[in-house]
Amino acid sequence: EATTNSDLSDATARAQAHAELVATIEAQRAAYYTDDSPLVADAEYDELVHRLEDLEEKFPELVTDSSPTQTVGGNVDTSTFDPVEHIGRMYSLDNVFDFEELRGWHDRVRAATSATSKFLCELKIDGLAVNLLYRNGELVRAATRGDGRIGEDITANVRTISDIPDRLDTDYPPAEVEIRGEVFFPLEKFTELNAALVEEGKAPFANPRNSAAGSLRQKDPAVTAERPLHMLVHGIAVWTSADDSHPEPAHQSEVYEAFRTWGLPISEYFKVLATVDEIEDFITYYGEHRHDVTHEIDGIVIKIDDIAVQETLGYTSRAPRWATAFKYPPEEVTTKLLDIQVQV
Ligand code: NAD
Repeated sequence: EATTNSDLSDATARAQAHAELVATIEAQRAAYYTDDSPLVADAEYDELVHRLEDLEEKFPELVTDSSPTQTVGGNVDTSTFDPVEHIGRMYSLDNVFDFEELRGWHDRVRAATSATSKFLCELKIDGLAVNLLYRNGELVRAATRGDGRIGEDITANVRTISDIPDRLDTDYPPAEVEIRGEVFFPLEKFTELNAALVEEGKAPFANPRNSAAGSLRQKDPAVTAERPLHMLVHGIAVWTSADDSHPEPAHQSEVYEAFRTWGLPISEYFKVLATVDEIEDFITYYGEHRHDVTHEIDGIVIKIDDIAVQETLGYTSRAPRWATAFKYPPEEVTTKLLDIQVQV
């Protein structure tokens, strides 16, 4: 409360309000990413991050490199996992919350790129970000996102997920490729897991996202193996071609096609669209059908399909400039589940 009541005309009070907000957000991030047990609902966390963004926008001298507005959330729990360095950085996503903000993003990227770039639209899976490293077609490492540079080595745990092949189904695998996706807990199994945990006298998970993270980030992979985890892949970082006749595809949608032929799980719901009106229709449609899929959706991700254009637009310290996430309004259910957890 000190934060909201501070006199922002005073530089010392402003710095203190900023430091308090940062400390609160960092504590919430640690509970969410490291303990898989959030202290507050996502909407409440998002609200605090917005307050921090507003404060930093008004007083840019408060921005530091380590501010949560500039960093990818997530730590490395070195007491349980070995730290591993990602070859390509892992990023978060910027957000838009309504069609006006979406059009603002669309107009900015259009102005910076050619009029013909198309947009790949897909569901934003509310799971845990995982990075898979394949060398010459063999899965050699899997890691959590961590702070975006260093993640947690969860290779043994990921090998228990049947969706993820140990070997890519191709005679021409890249020499080295990092593949990013989300691990999620199927919605229909979530209530069952929580009931079993309560029966064993353990705390249930606040939501399916946390149950995916908690099931995967286990010291003992045998526990992970008992959980019905699934994965969908949606991105690449490095792609080193072993063979000139099989170079990296020129479009994100062609990368997904390669994933499909290699036997990796891709979402069946993505579409390449040309106009902002079509993007809005896609968002509206899945806003009304968000419960028709097997995983939770917290929004729609919109990506520039042309990879050369993605590279031209590049990244901020936190997120790609060539993509954004349209976030749907929060749903009641998470808060209710949090209430249950508090009572247990
Ligand atoms: P984010 O979840 O808003 O978006 C970035 C992530 O989306 C990427 O890392 C990627 O893994 C994932 N993603 C899912 N589907 C994707 C797709 N189709 N294409 C590309 N990426 C896809 O950002 P974040 O930085 O991971 O987390 C911030 C969010 O996490 C907050 O908005 C909040 O909802 C939640 N959070 C909650 C608390 C809490 O205390 N409740 C704390 C920290 C974070």
